[in-house]
Amino acid sequence: MSHFIGIEAGGTKFVVAHGPDGLHLSDRHVIATTTPDETMAQVLDYISQIQREHTVSAIGAGVFGPLDPDPSSPHYGHITTTPKKAWQQFNFVGFLQEATGLPIGFDTDVNAAALGEHRWGAAQGLSDFVYITVGTGIGGGAMVNGKLLHGAMHTEMGHMLMPQDLAKDPFEGVCPFHHNCLEGLASGPAMMKRWHVESALDLPADHVAWALESDYLAAAAANYTFCLSPKRIIFGGGVMNHPGLIEKICPKTLQAIAGYVKNATVTEGINDYIVLPGLGDNAGIAGAIALAEGSLG
Ligand code: ZN
Repeated sequence: MSHFIGIEAGGTKFVVAHGPDGLHLSDRHVIATTTPDETMAQVLDYISQIQREHTVSAIGAGVFGPLDPDPSSPHYGHITTTPKKAWQQFNFVGFLQEATGLPIGFDTDVNAAALGEHRWGAAQGLSDFVYITVGTGIGGGAMVNGKLLHGAMHTEMGHMLMPQDLAKDPFEGVCPFHHNCLEGLASGPAMMKRWHVESALDLPADHVAWALESDYLAAAAANYTFCLSPKRIIFGGGVMNHPGLIEKICPKTLQAIAGYVKNATVTEGINDYIVLPGLGDNAGIAGAIALAEGSLG
């Protein structure tokens, strides 16, 4: 049986795995994100090793951005203006194509995760939904009318500008571009810096941090509801592993919407409207497999 190789390329680590589909993944392996020379050499080693055991028909890569996902652009497949200097203008697709000769599926890490959830997870059968990851950064992918939303490049849902009550939360934010955008206020690093902990998940369940975190994520969910009219919003990423956080976000989203949206999908089914990923931490790597499948046309 032919296999696909998936690459979930994050800013701190790459996850690679292979399988006949996104539900049957094998040899999941983690590689540190250092420089393209070092990291991609290990990716190629992995690909060669899998090719010795299986027929590999395509590779899919969900990659940290910003990047150029437009196949008609001369810079298609490049990472573009990332703060990670070594990766700026790196031709991710070109590198893999030249080294392997295989078809390469390519999109943002969050669009890949959205695609994985659509194929095998919590968004099966839905034409319109949003996938948000809350972790080292915050990013989102959206499917609109059955297609991943790209527009001029791709969405940057983590950088939406947020209401901030400075009396309640005087924290200056960690986003180098906007300070107190959603990522600046609610990402894992924002929680670490605001509360002086090594991981957001070290904060106990009764800590005020979680009330504040759910306020921001609920405001974001209300904004995604207003802007994209999704049928479901999936919250994934490491911070969402805190037990009880999703349950806090649901009612606060309704409060933020304030009765304006009357649609039953939102108002009557809030616990089905705002959910955790069906694939758990595998959404991104499964989505990379789905991108590989898609590259075969
Ligand atoms: Zn920002």
